Amino acid sequence: MGKKLCYVVSGPSGAGKSTLIKLAAAAVKSVGVTVSCTTRSPRPSERDGMEYHFISHKRFEELIKDGEFIEHVECFGNRYGTIKNAVSDVLLKKNRCIMDLDFDGAYKVLEDGLLSGIECVGVLILPPSIKSLQRRLTERNSDGAAALRDRLENSFNCEKIARYEHVIINDDIQNSSRRFNNILAG
Ligand code: ADP
Ligand code: 5GP
Repeated sequence: MGKKLCYVVSGPSGAGKSTLIKLAAAAVKSVGVTVSCTTRSPRPSERDGMEYHFISHKRFEELIKDGEFIEHVECFGNRYGTIKNAVSDVLLKKNRCIMDLDFDGAYKVLEDGLLSGIECVGVLILPPSIKSLQRRLTERNSDGAAALRDRLENSFNCEKIARYEHVIINDDIQNSSRRFNNILAG
């Protein structure tokens, strides 16, 4: 058994994090993905327990009160959080775990060492341009006009990027996926 590692993946909405993570989960057997909780509604392609645990605001509050979260944030008008078991469950089965976190959550894990005793590596996924990001988000067709604007405005609102060890400009998906998988397997 090798060393346990957590990869913290962040980037603007639409940069391609979920796409790259899905491809990696299928290709790199030593890596697992944590499933977060969210209060947002599932997209048509998403299933409860797969991409997220889709829960009510009330349930989210209960989990906070019970101290179940490692970290949680409010992002784009919804709440997102990682429960402690999500990380330990993955690390029981696999050596490496991927967490898809917003910039604030990522900062807390990478800088403040929330996962004590586990080495964490930051991977920043960026789109090739703002225009392409706009196009991807529009074509993903998962948000209304206001939510889309919100996601775009948040995109480069990240002063905290110095802590990321790896940066992938996700232009060609095959190249990016190869790079990402190599980082995870390395
Ligand atoms: P995120 O998880 O970062 O919000 P997604 O993985 O949902 O982003 O990707 C946003 C949209 O862009 C999706 O429809 C996805 O299929 C598409 N996409 C992802 N990577 C690329 C790429 N390299 N080139 C073109 N489209 C992409
Ligand atoms: P989306 O709604 O597009 O799935 O995710 C919106 C944002 O929430 C993304 O930036 C994603 O990285 C972030 N996110 C998803 N799960 C968590 C989590 O458990 N904690 C934090 N801090 N951010 C999360």
